[in-house]
Amino acid sequence: MITFEHVTKTYPGQKRPALHDVSATIDDGEFVFLVGPSGSGKSTFLRLVLREYRATEGSVVVNGRDVGKLRNWRIPKLRRNVGIVFQDFRLLPGKTVSENVAFTLQVIGRPSRDIRTLVPETLELVGLADKGDRLPEELSGGEQQRVAIARAFVNRPGILLADEPTGNLDPVTSVGIMKVFDRIHRDGTTVLMATHDATIVDQMRRRVLELHSGELVRDQAQGVYGYQ
Ligand code: ADP
Ligand code: ADP
Repeated sequence: MITFEHVTKTYPGQKRPALHDVSATIDDGEFVFLVGPSGSGKSTFLRLVLREYRATEGSVVVNGRDVGKLRNWRIPKLRRNVGIVFQDFRLLPGKTVSENVAFTLQVIGRPSRDIRTLVPETLELVGLADKGDRLPEELSGGEQQRVAIARAFVNRPGILLADEPTGNLDPVTSVGIMKVFDRIHRDGTTVLMATHDATIVDQMRRRVLELHSGELVRDQAQGVYGYQ
């Protein structure tokens, strides 16, 4: 579960807050779209969940913990349970698809017998069962994004965040990527996705949180994209 209670975030040196008095609760297993114009605070919202930043006021509670109060040495444990996927994939070049996905598990010290089963299982889940030995630079954008999803999900985090995951992809490829997120969600993972993709939001009819200038202006069940 993710709870924002009266969260305000003002970046150092900025007068206007990036988020202002935002309160919302996302339950386990929900699929939520975060929409709003550029600069409205969507990435800031995601970064507060990951404790990349701390709220200036209010609290952000993730799985029962106020992440603003976490000691630094506990942050890796939080991030083990919160995967993230970005618009620009951020894969390690020169490492194969399997190595990219395995890396997440190696960093946290999972034994190699787990890695040997989890990596192929996860590549299968994202539709890349036969691409493990390829390099990212040999793959299409959609395939690279599938690798990034596999890397974010291989440790089976309870929460998967995504920041404009289809922003660099054409509409047909985007639908394929959304099917992967949908499958992960149906297996019980909470998904929170910032997006500008009106077509996808309108097709999927999930809960929509809309930000404008840092204010939460809409929280709609089975929502639509809803603004120009
Ligand atoms: P979005 O993801 O909706 O485009 P952001 O959360 O990135 O919005 O940005 C919200 C506001 O905070 C914008 O005005 C942006 O310029 C500002 N901002 C974001 N990151 C920083 C930062 N690291 N330092 C200062 N201002 C920032
Ligand atoms: P924050 O910036 O979240 O307040 P700090 O770096 O100030 O975190 O650390 C908070 C507390 O956690 C301090 O008492 C510090 O000694 C302790 N701490 C930080 N890193 C570690 C670590 N790797 N192992 C054990 N304790 C740590």
